[in-house]
Amino acid sequence: MKVLGVASECYPLVKTGGLADVVGALPGALAPHGIHVTTLLPAYPAVLDGIKKPRVVRRYEQLFGAPARVLGVELSGRDLLLLDAPALFDRPGAPYADPRGQEWHDNWRRFAALASVAADLAADGYDLLHAHDWQAAMAPAYLRYRDIPVPSLLTIHNIAFQGKFGAEIFPELGLPARAWALDGVEYYGGVGFLKAGIAAAGMVTTVSPTYAEEIRSPDFGMGLEGLIAARGDRVRGILNGIDPAIWNPEVDPALVRTFGDRAPARRVANKRAVEKAFGLVKDDGMLFVVISRLTWQKGMDVLARQVDHLVGLGARLAILGDGEAGLAAALHAAEYRHPGRVAIRHGYDEALSHLMQGGGDAILIPSRFEPCGLTQLYGLAYGCVPVVARTGGLADTVIDANEAAIAAGVATGLQFDHADDAHLGRAIERAVRLHARPDVWKRMQQQGMRADFSWRQSGARYAELYKEMREEA
Ligand code: ADP
Repeated sequence: MKVLGVASECYPLVKTGGLADVVGALPGALAPHGIHVTTLLPAYPAVLDGIKKPRVVRRYEQLFGAPARVLGVELSGRDLLLLDAPALFDRPGAPYADPRGQEWHDNWRRFAALASVAADLAADGYDLLHAHDWQAAMAPAYLRYRDIPVPSLLTIHNIAFQGKFGAEIFPELGLPARAWALDGVEYYGGVGFLKAGIAAAGMVTTVSPTYAEEIRSPDFGMGLEGLIAARGDRVRGILNGIDPAIWNPEVDPALVRTFGDRAPARRVANKRAVEKAFGLVKDDGMLFVVISRLTWQKGMDVLARQVDHLVGLGARLAILGDGEAGLAAALHAAEYRHPGRVAIRHGYDEALSHLMQGGGDAILIPSRFEPCGLTQLYGLAYGCVPVVARTGGLADTVIDANEAAIAAGVATGLQFDHADDAHLGRAIERAVRLHARPDVWKRMQQQGMRADFSWRQSGARYAELYKEMREEA
């Protein structure tokens, strides 16, 4: 079976979050099921820098107003197609924003072009098109309105990002007038890319069973709950996996000392290295870590308000985060109040994130919503016990250390009800108390390290779904 994946990010070429990890891992997870995935990405400068000797697969004299080509290349066993449209993608800065952090004004054009090309390519003998998030979500709509009979799947990695634009772009999308409809691309008087994809795709998945339920309600659906609910059992949840080639504490080159589930005590060398990297005092008390985008979604404001409490309990905190300046400032202020006990590294550092998972005692994840979440899965695999808000994929992957779960030896972390001050504060207290019971803590670490969140399971679920969709088609 031949599948065309389409996305705006793919690890290791370009990554701003979990989406890239998933898009990078899916081809490998599906190969054992006889499914060959080719992934279409925009040819950002960083992507072109990372590849050699591409072949030209297709040329456009005019694609949304400028010439473009599709390049084909193989990279570490993955088949990639790159949309080389210099007018759209040859720009400095991050994938969606300019170097000052402003969203590109023509993001609608950039990602409509990506989706339109995906639909053209899908017609060239693919059995299924799999689009990811709003940047690719117009691809199912282009298939539908061009009457291309290729089944399509849309995966929503985060419904908060919807690709909403003004009605004035509609005439430029190259869609027939009938696409301007309630079950088409129209969304609250404008154009909604994610909305259009949800309406047009044969099947929609999101990245955990709990999130698939949550987004049927206004609290989580962010305006799309009605449409999601209307699509009924066409909306399903499949958890993300983690890639053991990249996240395995037994062989991870970013660790000072590797370790396995039999000897989590060896982690201490990594703890010392984290203390050193962050300039924290060295002690055997509890070291919490946070690896996160600094945003409201991730509850970083709540975290900032609980830092004093955490320090008051004798614990320390190392934060690696990239994102909003206001939240970074609040965390820097906490660092200033607690020198040697709290430290923040503002930026994105893949290797340091591995070391922190290998050396931290617990990873705090106070998300207000979390479609799947990967950092808790990495925490589980690395014996860095996740302390998580009970939402989305966090609820689905961490087994709370209540006394019954401790007695049964099945606990893998801590859950708390809401990402608010009182609940996070109490969860931190509970974590510190449990950490003071070394046998319980070690058992939790080992349970987490032995849990299987590899792509094997999730790959099998996607493979089943693809096959179901093909049979239906
Ligand atoms: P999201 O995609 O919403 O940001 P996830 O938990 O699904 O959240 O995925 C986040 C990914 O990005 C993980 O691989 C995590 O390790 C990584 N990450 C987040 N922030 C940083 C950072 N500042 N430095 C390095 N890696 C980070």
